[in-house]
Amino acid sequence: MILVTGGAGYIGSHCVISLLEKKYDVVIFDNFSTGHKETVETLSNYGKVKLVEGDLNNYQDIKSVFENNKIDAVIHFAAFSQVAESVKNPQKYYLNNVCGTLNLLRAMLEFDVKKIVFSSTAATYGEPEYIPIDEKHNQNPINPYGQTKLFIEKIMDDYDKAYGLKSVRLRYFNVAGADEQIRIGEWHDNETHLIPNILKSTFGSGKTFQMFGEDYPTKDGTCVRDYINIEDLVNAHILALDYLNRGGETNFFNLGTNEGSTVKEVFSVCEEITGKNIPLEVKGRREGDPASLVADNSKAKSVLGWNPEKTLENSVDSAYKWESKLQNM
Ligand code: UDP
Repeated sequence: MILVTGGAGYIGSHCVISLLEKKYDVVIFDNFSTGHKETVETLSNYGKVKLVEGDLNNYQDIKSVFENNKIDAVIHFAAFSQVAESVKNPQKYYLNNVCGTLNLLRAMLEFDVKKIVFSSTAATYGEPEYIPIDEKHNQNPINPYGQTKLFIEKIMDDYDKAYGLKSVRLRYFNVAGADEQIRIGEWHDNETHLIPNILKSTFGSGKTFQMFGEDYPTKDGTCVRDYINIEDLVNAHILALDYLNRGGETNFFNLGTNEGSTVKEVFSVCEEITGKNIPLEVKGRREGDPASLVADNSKAKSVLGWNPEKTLENSVDSAYKWESKLQNM
């Protein structure tokens, strides 16, 4: 049985559906701070999934999951993930992300569970020294969110040396899109991400899309990001689990496409896919945004056998279909 923390959230829920389709039994542990109960109800149509509502900051909550279930491995998504918020309220991030993970690892050690796949981030690299970014790039986060994820990576290294706990840390670039069958998708009550924000502005109740900064040293002045499709991203988690089950050593991989798109290019793809002229307002730069972030994904391809296949158009298409569904929910 696989424990998925944060399994009611965006990336976690897509991972759960994929695990269920591969006939894994799953326990979701979630405090519903950002995830949704409706998502878990949808997931329960696709296999054996159990929900435990609890908080990683409460050790007894997470300990009880290991007491009551035979957990073989953990996939750990539960975390706060908004950069700007982490700058304003670092305590919220250190307590939740770092202390919560320490409790999870403590329970794993207590119950002798020694395999974990962890959702890390490109934000652990900080301001890029070169592009594309490979895993040898220095890790110097420039915000508390990235720091929390880097601390956890380091803690995992120490726990491997001391206790033999094996981890795979997956450093995500920009995750995009929804389940191809549109059963689930990205659902944040306070959306900050580019693609859903552009798409939301195509609906009656939506706000004008705000583009943050046009004066970056990039080909059209807007930020470059590497948009990796959610289903491709989730596949890497399944491969990482297989890798650990085969006795793989602690490791870390970038998950991206090797290709960057500017905000303006993403905006054009959204206009093309929706067939709409989308209202746009150019604003100043958003604090903490590096000009370009693009992954070198060759390590995940060669070691895990990962093969991301979907394009930005695929991601925008599924995201738009999901957003249309969400508007009517
Ligand atoms: N962005 C934007 N308007 C929005 C949301 C994002 O112009 O409403 C820009 C943001 O400044 C960045 C890029 O889109 O350059 C990707 O931002 P997102 O929040 O999706 O991901 P991040 O790169 O911060 O993880």
